[in-house]
Amino acid sequence: VMPNSTEGRDIAYQMHPNVNLRKYEKSGGLVIERGEGIYVFDSSGKRYIEGLAGLWSVALGFGEKRLAEVAKAQMEKLPYYHTFAYKTHGPSVDLAEMLIQLAPVPMSKVHFTSSGSEANDLVAKMVWYRSNALGQKDKKKIIGRIKGYHGVTIASASITGLPRNHESFDLPLDRMLHTSCPSFVHFGEDGESEADFTARMLKDLEDLILREGPETVAAFWGEPVMGAGGVLVPPAGYWAGVQAILKQYDILLVVDEVICGFGRTGTLFACERFGIAPDALVLSKQISSSYMPLSAILLNDKFYQPIADESDRIGSFGHGYTASGHPVATAVGLENVKIILERDLVGNVQRLEGQFLDGLAKLAGHPLVASSRGVGLLGALEIKPWAGTASGDAATAVQAAVQDAGVITRNIGESICFCPPLIITGEQIDDMFAGVGKGLDAAAAARG
Ligand code: PLP
Repeated sequence: VMPNSTEGRDIAYQMHPNVNLRKYEKSGGLVIERGEGIYVFDSSGKRYIEGLAGLWSVALGFGEKRLAEVAKAQMEKLPYYHTFAYKTHGPSVDLAEMLIQLAPVPMSKVHFTSSGSEANDLVAKMVWYRSNALGQKDKKKIIGRIKGYHGVTIASASITGLPRNHESFDLPLDRMLHTSCPSFVHFGEDGESEADFTARMLKDLEDLILREGPETVAAFWGEPVMGAGGVLVPPAGYWAGVQAILKQYDILLVVDEVICGFGRTGTLFACERFGIAPDALVLSKQISSSYMPLSAILLNDKFYQPIADESDRIGSFGHGYTASGHPVATAVGLENVKIILERDLVGNVQRLEGQFLDGLAKLAGHPLVASSRGVGLLGALEIKPWAGTASGDAATAVQAAVQDAGVITRNIGESICFCPPLIITGEQIDDMFAGVGKGLDAAAAARG
């Protein structure tokens, strides 16, 4: 690595997220220089299919001109204004109105933030604020799930159920609890049917609530399909069962559709596909195809009204960011959602789901692959660890070989995850899986 190259200066100056920092100092990273459609190109000009849409987020692919044009126009008209102190602006209003119209269940208000982490963090604060408003001073606990991912700020990381986001950070906060992960392939017991597994997951949740005392539990958090935990699709009946329990014990349901939202699972929101009626809905990533940092919290009346009463009682809702509802981010978000609807990308997911899942299932016939799973255009392969590999090493080796073969994916534990841009075509799905097959063969050959 030349010290003056981008790689060299990157190693010298930049501290990266989510890496082994000592390893990064030696290896550096792949420099991605430009993007076009479902493809990105590295600094040597090599082309890759972005099989994870960046970080599960670039719905419209790379290089959507309309988003660039809207951003430029908004930058020229009003590049910045805030939404504090009894001020507002058109772009934030337009997107809020559209989200209320599109919401999977009746929602009352939209509040904007800039990342999924900030959004979940704020919803946790809103849960506590609401409990105080209702005089329920002990009803503050939040239940997340093992392998759930909700971000990395203090409350969000606490609700996240992944050890790597807790360890050495002195997290989780003690108000945050975790119930079982409803992934049958990973946690089903020998001889257990999927229906029995589902019943056990629901019993675990109810037992936790009863152990803690329902009067102390304020909210439950979940992704309809867990993403960063490794694409974990819940079994039939799971969400209906969870909602019945939450209703029984008067616990709010916060649904995190940061990955699932805007068509990923074949309906505009996964709440529709899985029959979920949230009290709060968290959106980000595909809301702007990640061209601008943006997230949104939608609250129903039950959640919003006590918060508004409390702000009236104490004088102000004491939360907000300089960038809350940022005009360029919300203008880009609005145009992005319009394009998703105009081009019927949700229909594209429905049309391609069968081909996508069949392609994964075919790859599951490869000697290095144990099984496949998915929903919509979100899927994963489970790699069979081979002799001499420590936990995760086999999937790491497969991911690297697949990347060499021209497809960027993400390995999580023993899983290789797929979440391509929603604009992908059938032919491009075939190309992507051909590349994955080549990578698997190369990894098998290297293993010997
Ligand atoms: N929630 C879910 C479901 C996510 O997948 C992510 C990011 O991957 C987040 C929250 C955190 O979002 P951000 O990285 O924008 O903070």
